[in-house]
Amino acid sequence: MKTVIIGGGPAGMLAAIGASQKGDEVTLLEKMNQLGKKLCITGKGRCNITSSLPIEDFIKNIPRKWEIFI
Ligand SMILES: Cc1cc2nc3c(=O)[nH]c(=O)nc-3n(C[C@H](O)[C@H](O)[C@H](O)COP(=O)(O)OP(=O)(O)OC[C@H]3O[C@@H](n4cnc5c(N)ncnc54)[C@H](O)[C@@H]3O)c2cc1C
Repeated sequence: MKTVIIGGGPAGMLAAIGASQKGDEVTLLEKMNQLGKKLCITGKGRCNITSSLPIEDFIKNIPRKWEIFI
């Protein structure tokens, strides 16, 4: 299947990955000069990352008062 995705933010990039893993021929259209531009300004320019650790270990490593998340 041919799939066209408009917008190369995190949602569009993940949709493109998912569709291509299914075997689709994917075209990702982005109006800016790079993908994920907004994502790159998250986390004060360091970009936020996530982890495959168990949620309790992940939360313990967030540098803030983590109790509020439980
Ligand atoms: C300053 C700031 C800090 C943030 N910090 C955090 C944070 O710490 N943690 C967190 O989880 N989230 C944070 N966010 C939010 C996070 O960036 C957004 O939730 C995320 O980017 C949304 O992803 P998205 O793919 O839905 O949309 P977007 O990232 O907005 O992507 C949409 C893309 O579509 C493109 N586009 C739009 N119209 C068209 C068109 N007609 N043709 C082609 N391309 C088009 C845009 O250029 C853009 O690249 C922050 C946002 C900002 C602005």
